Amino acid sequence: MSKTLLQTTIAGSLPKPAWLAQPNQLWAPWLPEGESLSEAKRDATRLAVRDQERAGIDILSDGEQSRRHFVTGYLEHLKGIDFEHLVTMHIRQRYDARVPQVVGPIVRPRPVHSDDVRLLRAETDHPIKFTLPGPMTIVDTLHDAYYKDRARLAMEFAKILNREARELERLGVNVIQFDEPAFNVDAYVDDVRSWGIEALERAADGLKCKTAVHICYGYGIQANIEWKKTLGSQWRQYEQTFPLIARSKIEQVSLECHNSKVPLELIGLLKGKDVMVGAIDVATERVETPEEVARTIRAALKFVAPGKLYPCTNCGMVPLPRAVALGKLHALAAGARIVRAELAKAAARRKR
Ligand code: ZN
Repeated sequence: MSKTLLQTTIAGSLPKPAWLAQPNQLWAPWLPEGESLSEAKRDATRLAVRDQERAGIDILSDGEQSRRHFVTGYLEHLKGIDFEHLVTMHIRQRYDARVPQVVGPIVRPRPVHSDDVRLLRAETDHPIKFTLPGPMTIVDTLHDAYYKDRARLAMEFAKILNREARELERLGVNVIQFDEPAFNVDAYVDDVRSWGIEALERAADGLKCKTAVHICYGYGIQANIEWKKTLGSQWRQYEQTFPLIARSKIEQVSLECHNSKVPLELIGLLKGKDVMVGAIDVATERVETPEEVARTIRAALKFVAPGKLYPCTNCGMVPLPRAVALGKLHALAAGARIVRAELAKAAARRKR
């Protein structure tokens, strides 16, 4: 049987219901407590699965409903990190954030996301993707008062992430994606080359499921919108990192395309890789039409074969209103259906 072309998926996060966390904000605190919180997270995950299935998304995520933030949501389960004495740090070379500190050896006392994956696996028959923060982005989201060596710290995290990823794979995850927005910061390009890719490959080492990396221009928050204004008429950050990723063992790359100034021909630098093409803008509450999504997919098809193109969102949708995110899920699936039908028609014509 031939594989479905243009399988849709999302970068990772979805907005949380208002009964779980304050809507429309990053790092929103949880509203319920104790066992009610655990139950509320599970219910929110079930809804995230249903919403994606109903919209027609093919490869499902848990919408990151059990995490407050894609980086600290993992770190808070580790030992050696002090969350009580936060420090202000300029992260991604873009904005100040209150971040935790590394104060001792990093240890993972127990698996972090096993229960989340068991739930996700039990709730759907679709292929599932699970996202983890990438080692370099983790290092960029905390203050290191212990190792005092970013490359070494990244490698410590990579080992921990690898153990986690192997367990999640055993529980039935089809795709493990590491989120590395830090790869897109101009000032880090040398670090990406000298240790970022190595740490990423260490995190993905030995996995038999699909391995992916997500590199984007960030959520649609004000600091990112301002940053994008400084990047000029062409965003060429991917030009530095894609050739490095093309040579790596990572199989899939999730990138930002729709409404961005990324020259699409840069996708050509990812020869041989699966490409998750961002066809949904997460920086606007305007819901795309299916035709707009289709146009972005068609444009990307000039540089990647249909069997290797996965229509996706530009980034996570957690700060968006829920109804907007739901509309965008439907638009994404509908846009992919349009292009799929066109490809089927063209193939039938060729056969005649
Ligand atoms: Zn992103």
